[in-house]
Amino acid sequence: MPDGAGAAPFLPYGRQTIEDDDLAAVVAALKSDFLTTGPLVDRFEAALAQAVGAEHAVVCSNGTTALHLAVHAAGVKPGDVCVVPAITFVATANCARYQGADVVFADVDPATGLMTADTLTEALTRVGGRPLRAVLPVHLAGNTVDTAAVRKLAEAAGAVVIEDACHAVGTRTPAGPVGACADSVAACFSFHPVKTIATGEGGAITTNDAEFAARMRRARSHGIERADFSIADGFDDGRPNPWWYEQVELGWNYRLPDVLCALGVSQIAKLDRFVARRRFLAGRYRELLAPYAPLVRTVATPAGCEPALHLLQVRIDFEAAGLSRREVAERLRARGIGSQVHYIPVHRQPYYRGLYGEQVLPGADAFYASTLSLPLYPGMGDEDPARVVEAVAAVLGLQS
Ligand SMILES: *Cc1c(COP(=O)(O)O)cnc(C)c1O
Repeated sequence: MPDGAGAAPFLPYGRQTIEDDDLAAVVAALKSDFLTTGPLVDRFEAALAQAVGAEHAVVCSNGTTALHLAVHAAGVKPGDVCVVPAITFVATANCARYQGADVVFADVDPATGLMTADTLTEALTRVGGRPLRAVLPVHLAGNTVDTAAVRKLAEAAGAVVIEDACHAVGTRTPAGPVGACADSVAACFSFHPVKTIATGEGGAITTNDAEFAARMRRARSHGIERADFSIADGFDDGRPNPWWYEQVELGWNYRLPDVLCALGVSQIAKLDRFVARRRFLAGRYRELLAPYAPLVRTVATPAGCEPALHLLQVRIDFEAAGLSRREVAERLRARGIGSQVHYIPVHRQPYYRGLYGEQVLPGADAFYASTLSLPLYPGMGDEDPARVVEAVAAVLGLQS
């Protein structure tokens, strides 16, 4: 271990930023009359809808249940097909499977890990004669997929677009903020601690379609209606009974409690500051890493996209460096630097191999082979990117 390596604090690849006013907001919620559904659910939904420029926001228990509520509201059912990029977290694909639908994995651009119009076009040829219901582009690391192009292709095939925007709260594009749903029926978010704002577990869907939002709200709480009763037992004296509710479909308990919505309201007010800080730190990384190209490269931002930068992904030519990714990760860790890989191609997971067999998606394999996520979160110090880059250079045997 190099001299002094033990002195500096360990830098994880990502972490939440919780400040005193966040704590105070949670404590106030704990002292209120509501622990689960209460007024803070509506407040968080209104604040999120406003922050991303959508008409409706529906908060729920996590990003996975957000994706499930969205595909359910889109009518995804057994026999249908959803197209999902191979480079994503497994939840993007699993939400289709919860509804009994099949997943066709689209390849990605090997330089960015993003689904493109070309990779989607190729994936559509593998749908065969089956009904395509939804295409789920993933804005990896906050870099946006060209959703206008995806929408054209999806609509021509009779499908809706549901954005997996779990990395992209705070990302802006020329068509508006991610979550404004300029080219999608819905966008799904996660507030897991490593994401841009945190509620612990937590998620949300935004949409401009009131009916779509109503379907998600109903499914979020058991498929229960508390108005518009269909059977006469719901009424005494011609008026709706106060205790009555009707379960009209199979739903779930995917609610986000008031206590966590309190944290959400507090955190979303800080979104612009968190994003600005991420961009500043990422800018430092870009400058500092530039001399090490092409052995180490940062991922280019799509034209016009101002990403929220959920992750600082670099691509390393491990073969040229003569080190395995595991050796690099272990040596970084020994210097107090965390790293992570986003993501193992989903079609390579045993569950999906078992369903669909061996598949060849060369863009996903190439991206996976080279990617490594380095520490990036608002609480990092101004000099931390230099510390990380020095460690990367030392581990790879590069001296500037
Ligand atoms: C985090 C994440 C999810 C799932 O979110 P959870 O809140 O952990 O359930 C889904 N998709 C992507 C791309 C994610 O990063």
